[in-house]
Amino acid sequence: MKVSLNKVVAIHYTLTNNEGTVLDSSNGRGPLNFIHGLGHLIPGMEEGLDGKEVGNKFQLKVSPEKGYGNYQNEMVQQVPVSAFAGQEINVGMQFEAGSDEQRFLVTIKAIDAETVTVDGNHPLAGVELNFDIEVMEIREATDDEIAHGHVHGPDGHHH
Ligand code: ZN
Repeated sequence: MKVSLNKVVAIHYTLTNNEGTVLDSSNGRGPLNFIHGLGHLIPGMEEGLDGKEVGNKFQLKVSPEKGYGNYQNEMVQQVPVSAFAGQEINVGMQFEAGSDEQRFLVTIKAIDAETVTVDGNHPLAGVELNFDIEVMEIREATDDEIAHGHVHGPDGHHH
């Protein structure tokens, strides 16, 4: 069986940047389970996994365009300090912003007397991603899983 649309796939992965720093890894956790082809993973990862089989180990280099997007300067904004009235804030802190329809993660980049500089870019925007991937398991998704759009079972979603 090959990785293709609506297969439930389990992978182990390690993500490093071009400097070799490990940014994320499934080591020490269970493998990552997902339904392939639904856009749950970044496009570069779905493309790289397509057609792979259990036991395949490979490296994948993903450009920002196929990863978390290019860094957009217009996503960096100045907010008056008063907007955070009563909240403890510090550089590097992340919080959710946006409307109910679209939530996104914002990182505080700088704080001065009057303004707070916030960055709405994904922390990995503009970063070239290097994945080491091993395909652990591939199976057909159940009808329920396809209808719900997520994996059920021990390592997946519980209702
Ligand atoms: Zn479900």
